[in-house]
Amino acid sequence: MSLYFRSICSSSAGNCLALWSDSTKLLIDCGLSSMKRTRAALTSLFDDPTQIDSVLLTHTHSDHIAYYPLRVLDEYGLMIRLHDDCVNQLADKHFREYAFKNVQLKPYKSKAFTVGDFHIQPFEVAHNPYYPTYGYQIRFQDTKIVIATDFCDWGSVFEYFVDADFIFVESNHNLELLRQYYNPNSRFHLPNPDAGEMLVTICQESQKPPQQVILGHLSDQRNEPAIALQETRQAFQDAGVEMNFNLDVAPLRQPSEILKL
Ligand SMILES: [Zn+2]
Repeated sequence: MSLYFRSICSSSAGNCLALWSDSTKLLIDCGLSSMKRTRAALTSLFDDPTQIDSVLLTHTHSDHIAYYPLRVLDEYGLMIRLHDDCVNQLADKHFREYAFKNVQLKPYKSKAFTVGDFHIQPFEVAHNPYYPTYGYQIRFQDTKIVIATDFCDWGSVFEYFVDADFIFVESNHNLELLRQYYNPNSRFHLPNPDAGEMLVTICQESQKPPQQVILGHLSDQRNEPAIALQETRQAFQDAGVEMNFNLDVAPLRQPSEILKL
């Protein structure tokens, strides 16, 4: 059975990732800016987007879910999985009096759950204290995938990434660019050197290195793909650890290549 991944977009302007096997289709977040763009993104990926099995939400910041993409998820009658602590916030922030009769909200409470072929373990990450935020460890047969963006402290969560085959992790900003273009919200995100240090630690703790790592959720103004890649490579060099995996950056606004995992 095959497994595929595509980042549809990954930045503070919008986040949406897709992971699918021959029989199960998952989205992680759906923070596209309009109904038109959401429909276009989902129909370009899947012939029939109503077949998407679940949309996993990480948290309710509007670059991850918002009213317009919710309208499309409602149109398709999709199931949304989100932590119990995010349910009221989703409605308060994004429903705007619209009934959302077709979308199915199915909250989870930290325990692992299954969607088709995927066994999913959510884990809480430290982000903005007013927004409970979750990463996902996803198992498909013998393959372990870990996806987490929007966090500022990796020490409490890196263990979820140990022995992963595929990692999608935030590398949000370069510290020098942050000094130039200060944004107080950047403190809720992982700077490049921390992402690098986290990946070094994951590799040191793992029996085998991941096959593929993608750096995501890069800041538009405070980062660049080449800088993020360089700072991760630098972290491995500084630690004297070999980087035995493919490293890539998710495009900020465009879909990535489809990756066969
Ligand atoms: Zn956020």
